[in-house]
Amino acid sequence: MRGPELLLCCNESAIEIALDDYFEKKDISIVTSIRFPAIQKMICDNDKRGPFIEDIKAVVQRRFIERIVIVAHENCKGYGGSQAFKSSVDEINAFQRDLWQAKRVILDEIAISYMKVMLLAAIKTHPGWLICEVKNEPLRGGKSSIGFLSPAIIHRAKRRIARAIRNCAPQS
Ligand SMILES: [Zn+2]
Repeated sequence: MRGPELLLCCNESAIEIALDDYFEKKDISIVTSIRFPAIQKMICDNDKRGPFIEDIKAVVQRRFIERIVIVAHENCKGYGGSQAFKSSVDEINAFQRDLWQAKRVILDEIAISYMKVMLLAAIKTHPGWLICEVKNEPLRGGKSSIGFLSPAIIHRAKRRIARAIRNCAPQS
């Protein structure tokens, strides 16, 4: 049985149902959340992260948080929407990099040895949203590594969703 978990997520209602389903399926026990558009991007920003880190620290200490779950999603207003990117792959790669940087910042700023950080990407598909775990760090230059959601994984996932919404987290 895992301990209490904190959700850091955009305040985007479109992804709520897919996210709830994912948490239930994966037995993720969110006790509280901090919501802000593209919160992972805010945490990456030297000038903007201060208040977010303070809030996260306070919650982690008060609620004895054992894992932080950060969710980024496609077509996020915090990034100017999907139209701000050349392609879906560019967009997903951009927020995966921010997720990883946010994770590094959090682990650095909130140095609690047992605390873990899980990264999730919400990918827009037809007819719903697919939640995928981003397990590995992107390589330099944005190349894919195993577990990083590569273009092939994203395309496969988008095709698969037409049949059924299911977890596409790469097996490690
Ligand atoms: Zn958003």
